[in-house]
Amino acid sequence: MPLSSSPNIVKIDEIAVILQRHALAKSVRLRIDPRTQNPIVTAPKSLAIKHIESFLYRHHAWIIKQLAFFSPPIDTDKVLFKGKSYQLIAQLNPEKRLTICFDHLQQSILHNTSTDLIKMRLKPAFKREALTLIQQHCIEFAQKLKISFKEIQIKDYKGRWGSCRQDGVLSFSWRLIMAPPEVLKYVCAHEVAHLIQMNHSPAFWQIVGTLFPLYKQPKVWLKENGSLLFRQL
Ligand SMILES: [Zn+2]
Repeated sequence: MPLSSSPNIVKIDEIAVILQRHALAKSVRLRIDPRTQNPIVTAPKSLAIKHIESFLYRHHAWIIKQLAFFSPPIDTDKVLFKGKSYQLIAQLNPEKRLTICFDHLQQSILHNTSTDLIKMRLKPAFKREALTLIQQHCIEFAQKLKISFKEIQIKDYKGRWGSCRQDGVLSFSWRLIMAPPEVLKYVCAHEVAHLIQMNHSPAFWQIVGTLFPLYKQPKVWLKENGSLLFRQL
């Protein structure tokens, strides 16, 4: 079998193996990088290439088996929805127009497009769901305080989760739909409370506590994990 080699890649038939030489390496070692799915061989600095090649040929079957194991049979990825990790599975008929099906029991989202595209196409669906839930919470909280708000807007905020304007317009980041439900609920209580107290005084937090007594944990969650919501879609 012919072999062709370049300084950093050793080709075994059609398989490109990345060669890393280390001064301290005592023997030849082979592994698959789980992230890039590239086979990587590590060898002592002075070992002749022919020894590395013959080592790789002896492990040819192992490499093929490992690569098959690492490459998933279908196009998959994951996304957070209401605090749970949903598997994105491209298994619906690709001939048809875009279809998205939520399977809440299996925590999966079935679709018929690519992983990159589905992430873009999911945004409108997530925004709609966010609006529905946020509206429910805000109406309930406003009724509790016997006040009203003008309207609710869903925004693509970069550095905040919500806001409350003097004229009674409440705005929220659609990304809250990816957080656990109590986190979204806490932000609703927070913004509704601002309709009475336009500050973060003890009086303000008292109102938040009246609307949603268990708000402290979600508040901490948002502070510690909020950036997660920007790495999903
Ligand atoms: Zn605030």
